[in-house]
Amino acid sequence: MKVCRSFVGGEWFAAEAAEAGLVFNPSLGEVIAEVPLGGGELVDQAVRSAHEAFPGWWETPAVDRANVLFRYKALLEKHVDELALSISTEHGKTIPEARGDIRRGIQMVEYACGAPALLMGESLENVARGIDCDSIRQPLGVCVGITPFNFPAMVPLWMFPLALACGNTFILKPSEKVPLTAIRLVELLAEAGLPPGVLNLIHGGRACVDALLTHPLVRAISFVGSTPVARHIFETGTHHGKRVQAAGGAKNFILLMPDATVNETVRGLTEAAFGCAGERCMSGSTAIAIGDAAKHLLPDLVNVAKSMRVGPTFNDPSSQMGPVITAQHRDRVNELIGVGAAEGARVLADGRSVKVAGAPKGFYVGPTILDEIHSDMTVAREEIFGPVLNVYRMDDLDSAIELANKSAYGNGAAIFTNSGRAAREFKHRIRAGMVGINVGVPAAMAFFPFSGWNESFFGDLHLQGREGVAFYTQQKVTTSRWFAPGEGDVWAR
Ligand code: NAD
Repeated sequence: MKVCRSFVGGEWFAAEAAEAGLVFNPSLGEVIAEVPLGGGELVDQAVRSAHEAFPGWWETPAVDRANVLFRYKALLEKHVDELALSISTEHGKTIPEARGDIRRGIQMVEYACGAPALLMGESLENVARGIDCDSIRQPLGVCVGITPFNFPAMVPLWMFPLALACGNTFILKPSEKVPLTAIRLVELLAEAGLPPGVLNLIHGGRACVDALLTHPLVRAISFVGSTPVARHIFETGTHHGKRVQAAGGAKNFILLMPDATVNETVRGLTEAAFGCAGERCMSGSTAIAIGDAAKHLLPDLVNVAKSMRVGPTFNDPSSQMGPVITAQHRDRVNELIGVGAAEGARVLADGRSVKVAGAPKGFYVGPTILDEIHSDMTVAREEIFGPVLNVYRMDDLDSAIELANKSAYGNGAAIFTNSGRAAREFKHRIRAGMVGINVGVPAAMAFFPFSGWNESFFGDLHLQGREGVAFYTQQKVTTSRWFAPGEGDVWAR
């Protein structure tokens, strides 16, 4: 069986490990690789390699660092189809969704190619008479990225291209559920000419992460994953003196106004709730139908949900929705749907019974709609992370915003309406960091911060954009004054 290799100091090898995980093709429910789960020793080896490579990479001019990334972008473009197939095979996204995953990642590489401009500091002359001040941005040193399973390419690419462009060295610890795409991303960067040790890749679970969080030579940690783990990463990392940005889980609200355009709203809501089988931190997993909106929109939405073609993705382009990531996750999603029904939700579409011909062992859940949700239900509180849409009914915009603002999370929120007044009110008052107006998945693009609020983010500086540059650099402010020959020289008198 294929064994996932680690990459440290420019060398690929199968790490010695007491434990191993299995990588599945979730469309078929079959094992496709084994991943050795490294611990403290592997972490120490990777951190030392990154630490040794740091001085040389820092001294490499920013334009030369950017040139490696330009070559990397070209290689990623050349291998888009191969990468999309890899994502689809180990994750289960449809090929178009997998292409979107890699496309968003490439945009981050493009952004990082602008490093020389992004790193420019500020200056002001005569801060006092004859005294000038300037600020420059310098890298931190060894940075770490710990990533989730749901975007095998995009999330790693949120992190290391920008960190490297800023002059840091990096250790990527991808999700042990989807390590194969990450391996390919790193191979291509090595092919683009990145010097050994500048980017290292290690595989592991909790022991590996905890060793990274506490290693004295690690300066900064970027994390994306579920909220309980994000909180643990933030608390442990900062306790050990590291800079940490930790993006967590979500439960995003979509408000449906009675004046919303029916076709576009149903299309947007379908994509938001069921795209990527609901395994997106920006999924619109909760709709609030206001006034008559449910009457206009729900019948069409239920029809679409019931007619979606669920099936294998890596080899069947006709599948509109793929599996969830593991058998355990499928069982948990199914169980939560049952709990929702038992607690009083009306099941308008039930994905528990989905059968997929030719893939009896695949990890499938069909599109599910739970109507008449109340905020005290289990499904209203927990992030389900599957193709399940909760629907609340409310009388007016004010009470809908009030309900959404009680959420512990705050990643994204959207409104579908034709009223500029309602949209403006929503944008102003909603407590979420990424807002959509007639856009169901308002995931910020590379040049903006990926701006989660509340328990969807722990830290100060988000991933992507200028906040990403600020996260991966520290500023140095120089105050300077120069004298004319003999000026102010008391000993010369
Ligand atoms: P996860 O938290 O289980 O795992 C994320 C990473 O943390 C993995 O690399 C994993 O190996 C590691 N990990 C898991 N448990 C750990 C522990 N106890 N201690 C230390 N490390 C641990 O998340 P996941 O299931 O891979 O991904 C799905 C989650 O990620 C969802 O909650 C989703 O909302 C969230 N997510 C958030 C964003 C965002 O931008 N806010 C983006 C993508 C995904």
